[in-house]
Amino acid sequence: MTGRLLIKKVFETEPVGQTVTVKGWIRSIRNSKKFSFMVLNDGSYQDSLQIVIDADLENYEEVASLLTGSSVSVTGKVVESGGKGQSVEMQAESIHIYGKTDESYPLQKKGSSLEFLREKAHLRARTNLFGAVFRIRHELAQATHKFFSDRGFYYLNSPIITAVDGEGAGEMFKVTTLDLENLPKDDKGNVDYSKDYFGKDVSLCVTGQLEGECHALGLGSVYTFGPTFRSENSNTKRHLSEFWMIEPEVAFADLDEVADLAADYIKFLVAWALEKCEKELNFIWGIPFSDVDKSHRSVLENVRDSEFLKITYTEAVEILSKTNVKFEYPTEWGKELQTEHEKYLTEEHFKKPVIVTDYPADCKAFYMKQNEDGKTVRAMDVLVPGIGEIIGGSQREEDLDKLIKKMDEDGMEKEGYWWYLELRKFGTAPHSGFGLGFERAIMYITGMPNIRDVIAFPRTPKSCDF
Ligand code: ATP
Ligand code: MN
Repeated sequence: MTGRLLIKKVFETEPVGQTVTVKGWIRSIRNSKKFSFMVLNDGSYQDSLQIVIDADLENYEEVASLLTGSSVSVTGKVVESGGKGQSVEMQAESIHIYGKTDESYPLQKKGSSLEFLREKAHLRARTNLFGAVFRIRHELAQATHKFFSDRGFYYLNSPIITAVDGEGAGEMFKVTTLDLENLPKDDKGNVDYSKDYFGKDVSLCVTGQLEGECHALGLGSVYTFGPTFRSENSNTKRHLSEFWMIEPEVAFADLDEVADLAADYIKFLVAWALEKCEKELNFIWGIPFSDVDKSHRSVLENVRDSEFLKITYTEAVEILSKTNVKFEYPTEWGKELQTEHEKYLTEEHFKKPVIVTDYPADCKAFYMKQNEDGKTVRAMDVLVPGIGEIIGGSQREEDLDKLIKKMDEDGMEKEGYWWYLELRKFGTAPHSGFGLGFERAIMYITGMPNIRDVIAFPRTPKSCDF
C-alpha cells in the first residue's frame, strides 16, 4: 500500500498514470450495474475527487452499498477526467472501508440550512461550505502572524484569567472554585473571595490590551491573538460570548499611525484571502444564503487597492443628522453610534471602509487618551460594509494623573490596576493599539451572514453545546 496523498495534492500535482492512495469521506455515491461513481472529500481541498469503481472490484458489493458520510481509503490510478470542471479523476483498484454510516446520518441532503448545520456543529466540517469557511479562517490566522511578524511585532500570549476588567464595562464571566450552594461570607455579608482559588475575585479576560501595553512598553511592538470572553447579552449576528481578537500595541505610536496599521492589516487579510482562497470564496459566494455574491470579489479588490477614509466622530454625526434616513435611535453629539448609524455611514454614505476617530470621552473606555478639547478621546472605530464595527482602537492615556482622575470619575476600583498605573509612573511613553474581532473579519471577507458560522463551536447567550 502506498502512503496517503491529500486530495489537494492530487489536484495540484496531477500525477496522471500513477497509482496513489487517498482517504476521506464519501460525499455521494451512485451505482449502476457495471460501475459506481464515488465523490470523495478529505477536507484538504474545495473540490472532491471523483472515483470510478468497476464492478469487478473485489469488495464491489459492499462498496456499492456504502452511504454518504462513510470513510474509506481508495488506492487507484489517477487518470485524466472526462467530465468537465475536473482535471483528473481516479480509477479505483482497491477500497478499504473504515467506517460506515446509516440513513440517520444528518448530512444526507445538499442545501441544509445554516441553522440546521449549526445544531450539527460536530459534523458540519464535512460539508463543502464549512470546509471552505474553516480553511479560510486558517489562512487568515496565518496571514495575521505573517503580517505582524514581518513588521517586527512580537506575539504575546496574554493571560485568559484576570483580576481586572480591561474595558471597565463589567461584562465578565467569573472564574471560581467556590461552592455556589454554600458561599463563604465576610462580616459585611459579601462573598469572601479570599477563600477562593486565587484568593480574589477573578474573571475571563475581555481583552488582552492591558497586558499588551506592558509588553509594548518593553518589546516595542506586540500583538495578541487569542480568545476573548464577554458576558454581554447581545443576541445578534455579530456577537459571540467567546470570540478571538487580534490586538496589536505599539510603543511611541500615535492614533494616526495605528489607524494606518489597521488599514494595512485589513488590506493584507483581504489580499491574502483573494490569493490563497479563491476556490473557497467562489464557493461561498455562489450559495444562496451568503450575504454577498461573486461581485464581492471586486468590492474586496477595491478595498485592497484604495485608501481608507478617515473622518471624526463629529463629522460622522453631522453626516447622520443631515440625511433623510429615519433611524431607530436619533443621532445626537455625545451618544455612541449605533449599528444602524455605522452601517449607514459605511454602506450607504461612503460605500467603503471608513475610520471614525475622536469619540466623546463618555462613550469610550477609561484608558483612552484625552484630547485637548476636554470632551473627546483619541479613539477610533473601523467600520466596514455589511458588518459595521470591525476594529476598535485608541491612543492610550500615558499621563498618570489624567488616568487616575478618569478612573475616579468612572468610579473604578483602582487597586487591582496598580501595575497598569506603574507603566505611567516608570518611563511612560505614548502608545496606541487596537483590537480586531477575528470572526467579524472572516464574516466581512466571506460574506457569511452569521458570526456563529465562522467559528467552530459558537458560544452565545443560552447556548454552549459541544
Ligand atoms: P460592539 O459595539 O460591536 O459590541 P465593541 O465596541 O464592544 O463592539 P471593542 O470592545 O472595541 O468592541 O472590541 C474590539 C473588536 O472586537 C470589535 O471591533 C469587534 O470586532 C470585536 N468584538 C467585540 N465584541 C464582540 C463580540 N461579542 N463578538 C465578536 N466580536 C466582538
Ligand atoms: Mn460590545
